[in-house]
Amino acid sequence: MKLPKEFIEALRAARKLVVLTGAGISAESGVPTFRGKDGLWKRYRPEELATPFAFKKNPKLVWEWYDWRRSLIAPLEPNEAHRLIAELEERYPEFALITQNIDGLHKKAGSKKILELHGNIWRVRCTNCPYKGEDYRVPLEEVPPKCPECGALLRPDVVWFGEPLDAEILNEAVHHSETCDLMLVIGTSGVVQPAASLPLIAKNAGAKVAEVNPESTPITSIADWSIRSKAVEFAQKLKEHLKD
Ligand code: NAD
Ligand code: ZN
Repeated sequence: MKLPKEFIEALRAARKLVVLTGAGISAESGVPTFRGKDGLWKRYRPEELATPFAFKKNPKLVWEWYDWRRSLIAPLEPNEAHRLIAELEERYPEFALITQNIDGLHKKAGSKKILELHGNIWRVRCTNCPYKGEDYRVPLEEVPPKCPECGALLRPDVVWFGEPLDAEILNEAVHHSETCDLMLVIGTSGVVQPAASLPLIAKNAGAKVAEVNPESTPITSIADWSIRSKAVEFAQKLKEHLKD
């Protein structure tokens, strides 16, 4: 795999760079993607558990799944692609990182400003009162966990299928997409909305779009460059180019 020359030039010339990441960037750190074969837990698909309906019906089951996912993620380290993005943040006067991931690996890699569209698996919030907190315990002491303020059920501070995104975070993501010169999209299937529309928003506003994914996605058709590569190999190649 060779990086397209025009892509490197566009990256060098960009005034404002936006990076959009999905589950694929964390795959080589060991986090299973939803649509990969390791995404299953017991006999459930994520789409059956990551919903407000599932939580209402069986909060214990949903929390057991989150407890399992948290235990998978806790020992994992960011990879070279996460680290490269943290370095890019330092390089560009204007930069934004927008992620659909909830695993916290971008932060662990040193990224500072992260727009987490789908929340974070290490945060909890109360279903009853305004309480919000962080909880890094693995496994959780109590499943389902209860609010320390009011005793009601806590839920993961993540966005479930069928729930709206935080409007402020989404607005900021849209604003960055509209004002960048180049959007780099790494490891997203491009089927979960509204995140999947951000590359189109960037494109329509005149930006170039580069996609990094071993497979083609709905984003491929609008991308100026589709780089068929895994995230880590891409990061290694790009690092070579950014040396000089
Ligand atoms: P997805 O699971 O739907 O798709 C992952 C994409 O990554 C696929 O297109 C796949 O071809 C690509 N991919 C796989 N391995 C790759 C690699 N090594 N390098 C680059 N690309 C690779 O993920 P999504 O589009 O991010 O959306 C699914 C939803 O699932 C999101 O809402 C997200 O919040 C959630 N999710 C998050 C995590 C996480 O936090 N790490 C993990 C699974 C799912
Ligand atoms: Zn509460």
